Amino acid sequence: MVDAVVVGSGPNGLAAAVTLARAGLEVEVHEAADTIGGGLRTQELTEPGFRHDVCSAIHPMVLTSPFFRAWKATERVDYLIPEASYGHPLDRGRAGIAYRDLDRTVGTLGVDGIAWRELLQPVVDRMEAVTQFTLNPLLPIPKRLFDVVPFGLRVLEQGSPAWLRRFEGTVAPGMLTGVMAHTITKLPGLPAAGAGLVLAANAHADGWPLPMGGAQSLADAMVADLEAHGGRVVTGHRVTAASDLPLSAAVLFDTSPRDMVAAVGSRLPTDYVRALDRFRYGNAVFKLDLAVSVPIPWTNRALLDAPTVHLGGTAEEIAASENAVAAGRHPDRPYVLLSQPSLFDASRAPVGKHTVWAYCHVPKGSRVDMSVAIVDQIERFAPGFRDTIIAQAGRDTVVVERENPNDIGGDISGGEPSLRQLLRRPVVRREPWRTPAAGVYLCSSSAAPGMGVHGMAGFLAAESALRNTFRLPVPSLAP
Ligand SMILES: Cc1cc2nc3c(=O)[nH]c(=O)nc-3n(C[C@H](O)[C@H](O)[C@H](O)COP(=O)(O)OP(=O)(O)OC[C@H]3O[C@@H](n4cnc5c(N)ncnc54)[C@H](O)[C@@H]3O)c2cc1C
Repeated sequence: MVDAVVVGSGPNGLAAAVTLARAGLEVEVHEAADTIGGGLRTQELTEPGFRHDVCSAIHPMVLTSPFFRAWKATERVDYLIPEASYGHPLDRGRAGIAYRDLDRTVGTLGVDGIAWRELLQPVVDRMEAVTQFTLNPLLPIPKRLFDVVPFGLRVLEQGSPAWLRRFEGTVAPGMLTGVMAHTITKLPGLPAAGAGLVLAANAHADGWPLPMGGAQSLADAMVADLEAHGGRVVTGHRVTAASDLPLSAAVLFDTSPRDMVAAVGSRLPTDYVRALDRFRYGNAVFKLDLAVSVPIPWTNRALLDAPTVHLGGTAEEIAASENAVAAGRHPDRPYVLLSQPSLFDASRAPVGKHTVWAYCHVPKGSRVDMSVAIVDQIERFAPGFRDTIIAQAGRDTVVVERENPNDIGGDISGGEPSLRQLLRRPVVRREPWRTPAAGVYLCSSSAAPGMGVHGMAGFLAAESALRNTFRLPVPSLAP
């Protein structure tokens, strides 16, 4: 018998476990995989000595998340915050770079510099209010709504057919579309505009940080804190039934709603289970990790300053690629998210060699090998890249789901990031993490506020459990 069980050790599960353990509760985490971390794993996927991030690589929300700020993640994990947040190459050697310094970025954007500033400066200036708004459930309506009006107006504009009308050139629209396309939804659209504007503003506010040693460093630090407060983690144990779990007053599921229902569905009311059945899983990713002999030979060398690079060309090309995926097709020239962490972190590859982390979007459940299409897109902006490949490891949606049961059909968002499911995550409730069954909570990215390494679903679910199940206050999270 323990006080609380957490099923799953992703950033949300570990945020929940740490919060409960620090409140003085006995906490046990049960993880299906043989290694801890969920979306925070770093492994030798290609050759010995090449350490690749299996899922997340860059953690903008670790700097802004109320949970990670209170837990002081940057004092526990060595985060590098580069001067350049992301880069965006176009044909004929042109490229846009989003520097942390907004003025510097504006200065490089020529005719569109002023429009870039007018779009993003008001969001950057209100970053804290915008973060509070986006990293909490949309209901209840937040107190500081007035502060987020400029953000909301820009989301409406960039999510409408009038998107990008502010710009005259091709670099700034490409850059903005590159961040909007993170969402794996149709373009233009309100969810993509919302997430894209937050990411674009983060790039100029706190920056896009890179965890030294890889994403695993954050999982390891969270488990160390959990163990320091008496908690423990059991790996290699997929929970499929209530009988798999030790007796406890609370169970928090860092899983898909589907796995939660499989385990404790008999304790949940039928109408709630039906509502979870209606929860939709979204489109997916094909992941490609590469070991290479030299830094990527970008035609535009300024891209070497940016740990994240968005490939796909112009705004129109990227929109066509994302809309093809939304329609269930595989684009010939996919939008590719790419990172080369070894440029900034020598621990990631043998001396002089490098790792490349890349993925593109594909329809859910796809079995198509997109390795060649991804390498072609890199080669387009970095001729000769193909000759630098030492080894590569591709994972289609079936493998992605096999390695993490939360990624249903290869969906890395924990559920379709549609407008409907921003409100209904997983259901519309004042405390969406709390299920109608006493002591049962959903704390994964399938619950508000959704995808990303921010730990907020886990923290808010733990807060709800402390209030409703244990009648305990939220503890200090500081080291
Ligand atoms: C390829 C890829 C790239 C990404 N890149 C980024 C990025 O750069 N930046 C960013 O912020 N986000 C990124 N993400 C998203 C981010 O990783 C997720 O949003 C985040 O990890 C979600 O956290 P979570 O705790 O909700 O779930 P997860 O991290 O998915 O963890 C869930 C854990 O629960 C375990 N589990 C599930 N079911 C069971 C069960 N029944 N029994 C026991 N254990 C179970 C799983 O094995 C897993 O370890 C990426 C994701 C992927 C897949």
